[in-house]
Amino acid sequence: MGRWAIILAAGLSLWAGATWAQPVARAPLNPATAPFADLARHRDDPAWARLSVATLRFADGDYRWTLIVISDPTRPAGPFWFVPHDDENAAFDAGLHALSTYGGRLVAVANGGRRDLAAGGRGMAGCAHPCDPNRDFGPQGPLYDATVLGLMDPGQPVVGLHTNAPGGSGHGGRGSVFVDPADSDRVFASPTASGVFANGDTVAIVAGRAPKAQARPPCVETLNAGGVHVAYEQVSGPPGGAGDGSLSNRLALEARDPPRVYVGLEARHGDAASEIAMIDVLMTCPAFVAP
Ligand SMILES: [Zn+2]
Repeated sequence: MGRWAIILAAGLSLWAGATWAQPVARAPLNPATAPFADLARHRDDPAWARLSVATLRFADGDYRWTLIVISDPTRPAGPFWFVPHDDENAAFDAGLHALSTYGGRLVAVANGGRRDLAAGGRGMAGCAHPCDPNRDFGPQGPLYDATVLGLMDPGQPVVGLHTNAPGGSGHGGRGSVFVDPADSDRVFASPTASGVFANGDTVAIVAGRAPKAQARPPCVETLNAGGVHVAYEQVSGPPGGAGDGSLSNRLALEARDPPRVYVGLEARHGDAASEIAMIDVLMTCPAFVAP
């Protein structure tokens, strides 16, 4: 797209009454022909008949973002499903299945199948800020932050969907998440976890400001009763801040009372079935049951 076309698209978006603080170009998307691998894998899904699909494209300083937004207008009260990492295909697949099953809205960062935004034209120039789309909430990505949070309805619960590499070599970092159920400082362990749910990589994650001993995060009882271990992250930082720039930190520090419900789900790379199995448990939690 040429320079003038971009300006025109941005101008039209603004003119169309969008509430964005800066131009965000919204375009409807045909999932049958869209040039995104995540959608191509599901080209024949009958759910498209009732889903609406669009892209949002915008620049945030040097950053160039593309979000795929899929909504179920027939069931808007479902959760907000968020897939920030474009290399975690099973997370997207589970999210689309969840949207088809439970309604709501799915937002995925489109980044050519890569986890991190690339230096240069397609992504953040030189990554002066975090290259990880799940570290750019808050002041480092103000339009990204406002756009993603602006797609959430008031009170809509949020599910962050991720996959990770197997093993316990470290926490966080390059997508490696591992939970030791004996780690009572960090983990609400399920006494009935078995099979894949006991592999340490297939877990739910919740965050809050209180120390774990005082924390009462939502859905822990439901998830534990369904055999799912729940890791707890205590988030520090001033109210209204963004912590480490992840969506979980951003929402935990948001000035809302009560805080918006957020649950992250992690399965091993490629294991959409286990991610979906955790989603099915989570959707029995009262905080997620649609009114
Ligand atoms: Zn991820």
